[in-house]
Amino acid sequence: MLEAESSASTHDAVVVGAGFAGLYALQRLRNLGLSTVVLERGDDIGGTWFWNRYPGARCDVESLQYSYSFSDELQQEWSWSERFASQGEILRYINYVADRFDLRRDITLNTSVVRAHYDDASAMWDIASADGRVYRARYVVFATGCLSVPVEPEINGLDAFQGRILRTSTWPKEGVDFAGKRVAIIGTGSSGIQCTPVIAEQADHLFVLQRTPNYSVPGRNQPMDPDFESDWKKNYREHRLAALATRSNNLFNAGTVPGRQVSFEEREREFERRWQVGGLGFVYAYPDMTSDPEVNKHATDFVHRKIAEKVKKPEVAARLVPSEYPIGGRRLCVDNGYYETFNRDNVTLIDLRTEPLLGMTRDGFRTAGGEHVIDMLVLATGFDAFTGALSRIDVRGRNGLSLNDKWADGPDTYLGICVSGFPNLFMITGPGSPSVLSNVVLAIEMHVNWIADCVAHARARQARVIEANTDAEVEWVDKVAALAQGTLISKTKSWYTGANVAGKTSKYFLYMGGTPAYMRELQQAGPDNDCPGLSIA
Ligand code: NAP
Repeated sequence: MLEAESSASTHDAVVVGAGFAGLYALQRLRNLGLSTVVLERGDDIGGTWFWNRYPGARCDVESLQYSYSFSDELQQEWSWSERFASQGEILRYINYVADRFDLRRDITLNTSVVRAHYDDASAMWDIASADGRVYRARYVVFATGCLSVPVEPEINGLDAFQGRILRTSTWPKEGVDFAGKRVAIIGTGSSGIQCTPVIAEQADHLFVLQRTPNYSVPGRNQPMDPDFESDWKKNYREHRLAALATRSNNLFNAGTVPGRQVSFEEREREFERRWQVGGLGFVYAYPDMTSDPEVNKHATDFVHRKIAEKVKKPEVAARLVPSEYPIGGRRLCVDNGYYETFNRDNVTLIDLRTEPLLGMTRDGFRTAGGEHVIDMLVLATGFDAFTGALSRIDVRGRNGLSLNDKWADGPDTYLGICVSGFPNLFMITGPGSPSVLSNVVLAIEMHVNWIADCVAHARARQARVIEANTDAEVEWVDKVAALAQGTLISKTKSWYTGANVAGKTSKYFLYMGGTPAYMRELQQAGPDNDCPGLSIA
């Protein structure tokens, strides 16, 4: 028990995090009649969309899909202004949802959770914030996000740099004026690729420091077509159901005929068609895009050719072409004019593989090629994904077992939601679930609904404890690992496998069986079947 327990405020449930996941968890648990409080470290709600407000930040899932489905009234009354919503519009939407469902009164901001200890005797959790407040609750729900803890890169002399250092993951609310500034950006993942064109338009000069090139497809964002929107809204339910029937819970108009079965010319036409449509649908052209080497190579070559066509200087284009891995191994990026940015006179691409970064100096940065003076450094260097947020909280389950110790060899979970030895603890889009491989808002809803149904089931039996069985957990971990075996994702170094964080790696951060199979797993594991993998007592 924690020392300040006598002054603890007691609730049925504490939810950690007030992003998409935390808000919906509050809505569902409250509707079950549970007194629930949400603890949020930020000074406002929104999670990812609160923090990542860098210029150009935009969702790469279409806005009509990247939104809650739990309320048809909400679906009907909210209007998205663009095909792909900007960070600002998504944050407005989240705030609208919070007001509409009167969620704010149960959200406590500026509250960074540092400890969560389970008390065996009372079957309650004691949860402490950095400033010493303590909360007691039967249930703790971690809605802490898959990509919420930034990785601080190891760069020599970072402290010596006298200019301004900005991080895409914690961008200043007041924005940044790049006019007249010399800027360098480190990181060419989705975040870097999105903000590079916008910064380049404003800055005096922009250096893009690239270690590994990524594949990016054009977003072709556009204002929302009112006819498309009204048509979609008339059939929202059908669209949602159709999305649930796809592997990624997202309607990309996925091809069903294997690419291996069609001619090279036909594949070329289909790639071109999807390239013109824009967005992530490119990698869904054929079901064997990432599994058949010939089809995958064709798609990879296609994007290489596109880069070469867009970038005028062949030597610059060559540096932008990914050569270390094929398309589909890492998360595909979606851009708005990224490659074209390198045709600007005020943009310099520095390839750190041939010209290593030696470090920062007082006035800029030094590479093997020399020193460059800059005013600002932008870090778009990624996240400690999946486990980053939980590993920074001192979570202890039965008999004081530490979650970090339990997960020393990898994040064993049951369904990506529960952990044996940690009763009444739930994670939303936790490791071992499809999470970022699917439309994450709908993945969140799926988890919250399952958790709420299990809690209702336990309460109906007046049970105090819900806990994953060790056998069920072992079986789940094996299943997740087997599904990952041999996939392109598991063979490629990226944040998907933990390779971007020193000392971290795992084959089972992600369930790769696709949404329909995962939904069947949840169904079989849920209250309709008396929760066979859980002990409810
Ligand atoms: P990321 O994909 O992990 O990219 C991080 C970048 O920083 C990589 O280019 C990496 O290079 C580079 N880097 C890290 N440390 C470095 C160092 N010491 N020196 C030089 N380069 C270094 O992170 P992200 O761009 O933030 O994206 C993460 C995920 O967030 C995305 O994949 C996506 O799922 C999500 N996201 C989505 C959107 C969207 O919806 N549009 C936008 C942003 C992010 P290496 O590759 O060589 O390690």
